[in-house]
Amino acid sequence: MALRFHNSLTRQRETFQPLVPGKVGMYTCGPTVYNYAHIGNFRTFVFEDLLRRSLRFLGYQVTQVMNFTDVDDKTIRGSQATGESLDAFTARYKQAFFEDLDTLRVERAEVYPEATTHIEEMVALIEQLRERGHTYEDNGSIYFRIASFPGYGRLANLNPDQMRTSGRVDNDEYEKEDVRDFALWKAWTPEDGPVFWETRLGKGRPGWHIECSAMSMKYLGEHFDLHTGGVDNRFPHHENEIAQSCCATGQSFVSTWLHSEFLLVEGKKMSKSLGNFYTLRDLLDKGLDPVAIRYTLLSVHYRAQLNFSFDGIEASAQAVRRLRDLYRRLEQAHLHQGPGSGGRAEVATELCRADFTAALEDDLNLAGALGRLFLWVREANSLLDEAVLSVAEAQTMELWLKEVDSVLDVLKEDCDENAEACVARLVEERVKAKAAKDFAAADRLRAEIEALGWVVKDTAAGPVFHRR
Ligand code: AMP
Ligand code: ZN
Repeated sequence: MALRFHNSLTRQRETFQPLVPGKVGMYTCGPTVYNYAHIGNFRTFVFEDLLRRSLRFLGYQVTQVMNFTDVDDKTIRGSQATGESLDAFTARYKQAFFEDLDTLRVERAEVYPEATTHIEEMVALIEQLRERGHTYEDNGSIYFRIASFPGYGRLANLNPDQMRTSGRVDNDEYEKEDVRDFALWKAWTPEDGPVFWETRLGKGRPGWHIECSAMSMKYLGEHFDLHTGGVDNRFPHHENEIAQSCCATGQSFVSTWLHSEFLLVEGKKMSKSLGNFYTLRDLLDKGLDPVAIRYTLLSVHYRAQLNFSFDGIEASAQAVRRLRDLYRRLEQAHLHQGPGSGGRAEVATELCRADFTAALEDDLNLAGALGRLFLWVREANSLLDEAVLSVAEAQTMELWLKEVDSVLDVLKEDCDENAEACVARLVEERVKAKAAKDFAAADRLRAEIEALGWVVKDTAAGPVFHRR
């Protein structure tokens, strides 16, 4: 089967054909760095991680670009509130963002351009739009004239009456010809304080939308393969990006648009403005395992809403335990070599590989792929229970699990950086294995704890552990 995506632009499932066979250029809208990202934001960033890992699993080479929005109303207001320079203020949240990505095992993109270091590219793009007659000026600000682009509204599938206001279109601030028109360049006002650039367009700062058009085309070319974001980015942000880019270059911009659905809390979008959000750090403070959080964010199809719950995270933690437990068993299978399963191990693994791959190729249906994987996990555990696996068969199965983990990235324990917290989690897993009367798993966990240089003892008050 071929890889197919639901393209938001056409609202159809299409066979994916990159412009250069075997190579994919993708642009993912990055964070506005005025605060810690919340785990709703991370749902989108983990989805993008799944996308790049799946593409690689399927044999593509990936170049991913993710921007930092480090100048806008929120970052300017935030820096004024703390009395820092804009750079010092946003640097803190850029660093926090990278730390959080590492915690969630999100792979790094190839390029992280910052808006503040690409002002020249944005100015040049606005000049190009001006030359082609798509802009007008008012009070030193420059606006994009939506009426000059007949294709406007195609991505959002809205008729003109529906294209009204949204968060980042500041209707009241300036005189606009049409309420839908948006600012490409914002003239400096006293509220911006020291934040401005003196450019060929005058003194001011860029609008939000132009930054993504300028930086995506700089690093990926005028026409590239994939552009992603959360569903709230679709309109007006991505619609505006399309308008700016197509009008500036005279050609089409992005082949395939993918949008991930919201993370919800009690039926509402998790967002900073509603105050119903958790940062990743909040959840870690509550003792949640970041890998279980990652698994939770991955395991629901990206186009379905995901309701955040602590029960959901516990279910994910169990799924991760099952995968790790099988991995430990396979690793140790060479110790007790079996006679061979008569081809059962290989057939089970090849069938799982085919189905898992087909599910990923079907618009990244990881939920389906995981359902199939756990059937294989059960088969693998049965073969281990029967003690029939040969060393080569155990290795084949272990290799497949590792391959799956190049997409999931959940097998590795975090023991190097924070050994005590990690061992505590293994001890906790062992308690749960014993409660479920899975004494073999409990023994494997004890062996793992000891291999890390720790000792666990069972006492009347529960298990205690210390370094050996
Ligand atoms: P921002 O920092 O506000 O620009 O958002 C960064 C990314 O997070 C964007 O792609 C948003 O679409 C996405 N996002 C914001 N809230 C949520 C949510 N509750 N669930 C999933 N994605 C979200
Ligand atoms: Zn963007």
